[in-house]
Amino acid sequence: MRCSEKCCTYICPANVYEWNDEKCLMTIRYENCLECGACKIACDKQNIIWRYPSSEYGVKFKNG
Ligand code: SF4
Ligand code: SF4
Repeated sequence: MRCSEKCCTYICPANVYEWNDEKCLMTIRYENCLECGACKIACDKQNIIWRYPSSEYGVKFKNG
């Protein structure tokens, strides 16, 4: 899927998404995710799917 805006790369407060133009590759550092939900709302192609952790335990910080 082509996406010229790549809004996920600048909407995320945790810098989870990084686009490499040279390699035409998206790097996703999922372990940085703060579960704010902004990327899911911002992606107009509905290309981002995530769910809260099971059992309603809330955010599970993987780094720090
Ligand atoms: S996740 Fe959405 S906003 Fe990000 S590059 Fe893909 S289609 Fe574009
Ligand atoms: S839900 Fe996670 S990946 Fe998405 S914008 Fe928020 S911090 Fe970034």
